[in-house]
Amino acid sequence: MIFLTVFYKIMKKFKRKHYFWFRRDLRLEDNCGLWEALNYAKQEESEICLIFIFDTAILDKLKDKKDLRVQFIYQNLARINQELMGHQASIRIEHGETQLIWQQIIGDERTNAIFCNEDYEDEAVKRDQKIKELIEESGGSFHTYKDQVLFANREVCKANGENYLVFTPYKKTWLKKMESEGIPNYPSESLVELIGRAQETFPSLASIGFEASDFQYPSKVINTQALKDYDQTRDFPALQNGSSHLGIHLRFGTISPRQVIDSACHCNETWLSELIWREFFMSLLSLKPKLPEEEFKSKYSAIPWKHDENLFQLWCQGKTGYPIVDAGMRQLNTTGFMHNRVRMITASFLVKHLLIDWRWGERYFKEKLLDYDQSANVGNWQWVAGCGADAAPYFRIFNPSAQTKKFDQDYEYIRRWVPEFGTNKYPEPIIDHSFARQRCISTFKTSLQQNMDSSS
Ligand code: FAD
Repeated sequence: MIFLTVFYKIMKKFKRKHYFWFRRDLRLEDNCGLWEALNYAKQEESEICLIFIFDTAILDKLKDKKDLRVQFIYQNLARINQELMGHQASIRIEHGETQLIWQQIIGDERTNAIFCNEDYEDEAVKRDQKIKELIEESGGSFHTYKDQVLFANREVCKANGENYLVFTPYKKTWLKKMESEGIPNYPSESLVELIGRAQETFPSLASIGFEASDFQYPSKVINTQALKDYDQTRDFPALQNGSSHLGIHLRFGTISPRQVIDSACHCNETWLSELIWREFFMSLLSLKPKLPEEEFKSKYSAIPWKHDENLFQLWCQGKTGYPIVDAGMRQLNTTGFMHNRVRMITASFLVKHLLIDWRWGERYFKEKLLDYDQSANVGNWQWVAGCGADAAPYFRIFNPSAQTKKFDQDYEYIRRWVPEFGTNKYPEPIIDHSFARQRCISTFKTSLQQNMDSSS
């Protein structure tokens, strides 16, 4: 008997380990990769270890040590860890360069398999390829699953297999596919007892170089009552519940995208449509990984942008003298969120009124938005600039005053963010609207014409 116990302990020590690697899927519930990993463990009668890596390649670039996205990730990992402790399990948290950490784990611990969910951003795809090679060299395997979207780019295609580059037919096919295939559920939460019993130490936020703040993040509870009227309310920035505020949860996977899509199906068609835009932009980015730098429509690549640092700073700070633009930028700077309609107005103002490169604006939003998502941000900036796959025409220039009249008639949103509005402390407009409009149209027109002439 003693012999058997010792033998079992030795075998366990030399048994290969399997890992589930959390990234943009910070939840135990309805997590496809985790579900697959736990089923694999069940079949193999082995345990799965959970891991998250705070990647210094990303963290070292963050200037603000109170970065709210890092704190959000940290808090959600702590919540997961708390839940696991109820099952005598825990999550392993690492901090360092991802490849080096995996190198060490694979070398030291006879890692058999790594499971994770697909990430479609170019840097993430390259990172995953490296880790896949690393584990395969050691005789192990790397398994990825679709979890961030209902349908990935290769799944919503034309009959001839080509990708859609226009939203409306993409959406039609997406909806048909959903109707015929349904929305799957992966009840990973029901298998948590298969998670390894290791008691890992949970680090402090300070030990990874960041400081805590008492910021209140939006709730991940879906307010189905309010969202029933989404098509009526979504354009009014003064309304607190006009949209879901789920962006940050979808970004980091603290809510299941399938659950949100399912709710939207029962709630409001327009809201569902926005979730399809999310998948459309993700599929475009997979198709064209250079989109963050390059215009989808190359004929727009020679617009003579004005690289005016001074005007750009006034836009960033919300001091343009256009109240709706300034309100939006100040909301962004204060809360990490900006209402969708105001994102369109502020972006259009930067690109079309000030003729500043859309990439400057995209980078500023990237730095500030809590729900920052590369595909959605780049896709929407290119939509506003006219150079995207399915974009607004270049001569569609948002008129900030007309937009205010339509969507913030009583200046409720503006007054909330620009308290000096209407006083002599509020600045004069930095540019005249009619002048800016004419200049934009003629600049774009000339550049596109020159492009046509040179390519004919
Ligand atoms: P809701 O209106 O409730 O919509 C639900 C979810 O659908 C959103 O959280 C988002 O995941 C998705 N969604 C909604 N609208 C869009 C859209 N137009 N394109 C793609 N997905 C959409 N959205 C981001 O998630 N990340 C970004 O970095 C981002 N940058 C943007 C930049 C510009 C210039 C513009 C015009 C829009 C951008 N959007 C971005 C889209 C949209 O503004 C936000 O998704 C939305 O305002 C977030 O609010 P919400 O969570 O209440 O979304």
